[in-house]
Amino acid sequence: EPFIPKIIKVNYIEGSNDQKWSSWDFPWTKKLEANNKKVFGNHSFRPNQREIINATMSGHDVFVLMPTGGGKSLTYQLPALICPGITLANIPATFLSGNMEWTEQQEILRELNSDYCKYKLLYVTPEKVAKSDVLLRQLESLNARELLARIVIDEAHCVSQWGHDFRPDYQGLGILKQKFPNTPVLALTATATASVKEDVVQALGLVNCIIFRQSFNRPNLWFSVIPKTKKCLDDIDKFIKENHFDECGIIYCLSRMDCEKVAERLQECGHKAAFYHGSIDPAQRAFVQKQWSKDEINIICATVAFGMGINKPDVRFVIHHSLPKSIEGYHQECGRAGRDGQRSSCVLYYSYSDFIRVKHMISQGVAEQSPFTPGHNRFNVANSGRVLETNTENLLRMVSYCENDVDCRRLLQLVHFGEKFDSAHCKKTCDNCSKIKSFIEKDVTDTAKKLVELVKLTGQQFSSSHILEVFRGKHLAKSEASRILRHLVIEDFLMEEVKKSDVYGSVSSVLKVNQSKAHNLIIGRQNVVLRFPSAINSTKLSKSDVTPAKGSLMSGKLSPSRNDTPSQPQNELDLNL
Ligand code: ADP
Ligand code: MG
Ligand code: ZN
Repeated sequence: EPFIPKIIKVNYIEGSNDQKWSSWDFPWTKKLEANNKKVFGNHSFRPNQREIINATMSGHDVFVLMPTGGGKSLTYQLPALICPGITLANIPATFLSGNMEWTEQQEILRELNSDYCKYKLLYVTPEKVAKSDVLLRQLESLNARELLARIVIDEAHCVSQWGHDFRPDYQGLGILKQKFPNTPVLALTATATASVKEDVVQALGLVNCIIFRQSFNRPNLWFSVIPKTKKCLDDIDKFIKENHFDECGIIYCLSRMDCEKVAERLQECGHKAAFYHGSIDPAQRAFVQKQWSKDEINIICATVAFGMGINKPDVRFVIHHSLPKSIEGYHQECGRAGRDGQRSSCVLYYSYSDFIRVKHMISQGVAEQSPFTPGHNRFNVANSGRVLETNTENLLRMVSYCENDVDCRRLLQLVHFGEKFDSAHCKKTCDNCSKIKSFIEKDVTDTAKKLVELVKLTGQQFSSSHILEVFRGKHLAKSEASRILRHLVIEDFLMEEVKKSDVYGSVSSVLKVNQSKAHNLIIGRQNVVLRFPSAINSTKLSKSDVTPAKGSLMSGKLSPSRNDTPSQPQNELDLNL
């Protein structure tokens, strides 16, 4: 068998653990400190802010992954203020937009042309960059006068079709690095899987980019998934009364009608509940928001339209009345709970029939999107096959998250963001970690081999859901195969790569075999062992497969062990290439 080395991608540099960026000895440190206090009124920097600012001000391309509310804006606003020249910031909604009067736009462009420009920060929509030659010429002129200090791309995950919030206009932003190769780019996002990140870095043409990332783990949130039955609303009522009575919470519902029904029912049960969705009128919307912030209403039943810009620190629970559309979306929605750091609950009611419902809504392009995506509706109309496929793939991952009753919920979420997590750190704050008391270890090497071989046989050009589809029927239960497949990716036997597939530049995620590692598996030098709860349905496992867990029976044990000594939870999965 020929040895094919793993492709080495060296265009990232991990910045988070590099002491250099924390230094107080940069020429601008004094100015930084002073302006942070004086202009922004901050007493200090939040985690990573100083480091990001130092890296971007040193002239590097920087990619930032920081949870919502972490303070990303400051990392470009502060440099914009203290650097000579202008910072161009691409954000989803903005000032120099197509809606502005032409005279007003000209006024701004004229000011940019002056030698003593009063502006430090120019916010534009990505659409503007793509469509306005006038703006591009103006930027060229600024650049020629060495006044284009920095290019910022906020919500950078929107560049990737593989993400949950793709916007076509963002794809045109790659032109900026081509035109201004010497201007540092700062790309920021609160949500990106490893493949989205890779896609973004490539599309924007970032060079030797330094990555700063913060753990996406939220230790104060408790996660659980509960089977959804006909009694779901009774369950929700009971859950709130027993755990969070009179406390603040959000209940995410799939449809507008669901929002109204759930709210009505909770009101009958004595809760101060209201509903909120895309088709209530603006006055009503403002009224609900106001009552919510004054604690006159404490439960909002909402579609995903609710949440953006809601900064209530004491949201004690987020309940999903039906299936979220992606793990990223789910993580973001749960993230609205417990901003104050206090213990909060995230409960998801899951049923397979909801999956069918959501799938249908996605295929019809009628699923309500977050308002954070103004371009979305327009895009939904032209729902291309590829986007549909991406959305369906995202939904399938969400389903497999819900159907997984073994692995730590935090691990499952964080792995999705390319972060390694030792489930020992969960400390039984998720349903799976707290309910499972004893395990059975099962050697799944055979299935693992079959999956690797299937990926090879089919030419390393299909996504994981496709591979599972092919595998199904022939072999064992899909949920088990899906766990094994994901494990193979986590442990680097398989790699998930983003592929630009055709002339339209569309993107897909493709499983590849990591030859050097998979080789050991194929020749039997390495086993794959996964844990299953010992109470598992005996029809799922044949008796001869099962070995009781008694320390480490197998050599080459690969499953994440709950009792291992804690390791650093923050390692990039795709960086140890
Ligand atoms: P993100 O874009 O990461 O979601 P923002 O930039 O909107 O976050 O910041 C969230 C909030 O945190 C804002 O209200 C901001 O003023 C505040 N903030 C940011 N940095 C600091 C800091 N160093 N000290 C205190 N507050 C800060
Ligand atoms: Mg922001
Ligand atoms: Zn857990």
